[in-house]
Amino acid sequence: MCDLWKNTLTHTVPIGAIPRQIDYALLQLRSRPGQIKLYNSGSFFDPAAIPLVDYPAIAQAVAVANHVVVESHPRLVGEKALRLRDLLPGTLEVAMGLETVHPQVLPRLNKKFTLEHFSRAAGFLRRNEITMRAFVLVKPPFMDEEETLEWAVKSAAFAFSCGATVVSLIPTRPGNGAMEHLMKTGEFSPPRLATLEKALELSLNLRGGRVFADTWDLEQFSRCPACFEPRRQRIHAINLTQQLPPAVDCPACGGT
Ligand SMILES: [Zn+2]
Repeated sequence: MCDLWKNTLTHTVPIGAIPRQIDYALLQLRSRPGQIKLYNSGSFFDPAAIPLVDYPAIAQAVAVANHVVVESHPRLVGEKALRLRDLLPGTLEVAMGLETVHPQVLPRLNKKFTLEHFSRAAGFLRRNEITMRAFVLVKPPFMDEEETLEWAVKSAAFAFSCGATVVSLIPTRPGNGAMEHLMKTGEFSPPRLATLEKALELSLNLRGGRVFADTWDLEQFSRCPACFEPRRQRIHAINLTQQLPPAVDCPACGGT
């Protein structure tokens, strides 16, 4: 559903390469981050992606942070998460792509997990004092704009019911090849900015935890140049404050 495959290697990197890369990245920063996300365009706990023998050096490289977030497919969550947790001086969080709880759409995304897998992985993390965040797709392929809002909020509610402390709403974007193909066949079109904004509001109103909307390259979802910037600023403000400022009133588009 994303273009991360473009950064995905078909071979395992040499031992030591990942800790070195983290050291290099941290050297570029002028400050010591309190939190670090290690997103690897895949699953941290996939041993073909992150060699197990690198865990101690990785943990040492990120030891400046008191909280570390890694991403993983739900079915790869297990003993390796405990191993990483035990190596970190601070706390560990695992981000998992829930994508959607829509019973027809989720299987068609071919992510090879069920809600049962997700909920089991979430339970494992919770029992082991590892926090969890969920990625939810706003308007995945095979979903109409009209049902998008409902299923984004249902998905956020499911993630919170599984113990997620954060839900990250990702507007589904073209750009990975497969999405362009599905656009041609009429099975995918990107969500509207107003839909993402509303999904953020309603998911936040669940009061289940923090909710963020991914604002990367946001302009492509806007149909109205007059209100794009105030809307972007509003979404950004919601991300930062977890409060809802007044809605943007746009005479040009009427807020659609
Ligand atoms: Zn407008």
